[in-house]
Amino acid sequence: MTARAHVLHDLEATGAADSDTVSLLEDALAQRAWWLEQWPAGNQFIVGLVAQDVQDGLLSRAGRWPVCPACEDATHALYVDPDLGGPDPTWVCEQAGLVVGPIGSL
Ligand SMILES: [Zn+2]
Repeated sequence: MTARAHVLHDLEATGAADSDTVSLLEDALAQRAWWLEQWPAGNQFIVGLVAQDVQDGLLSRAGRWPVCPACEDATHALYVDPDLGGPDPTWVCEQAGLVVGPIGSL
């Protein structure tokens, strides 16, 4: 699944890919796979949604992810845009109003 590869890449790139985080990702993928069966047209939404699921899961366990790489001394996280899922999701810094890059490119 593309969503797995993209989100895993970003977890690894930010040093956040430990076994807890990967199982969080697997859980999110399993949930979304069910959702996708009900609504196959949702395929293009899945990367952004899985990224948000992992982001939410990490927030309660480990803290903000991914921390913004664009701002100096940043403690804020990036946001997924579009935030309810959509094609070609990107990481966005809301503070700088900056598109950091597509999900899967960190
Ligand atoms: Zn920022």
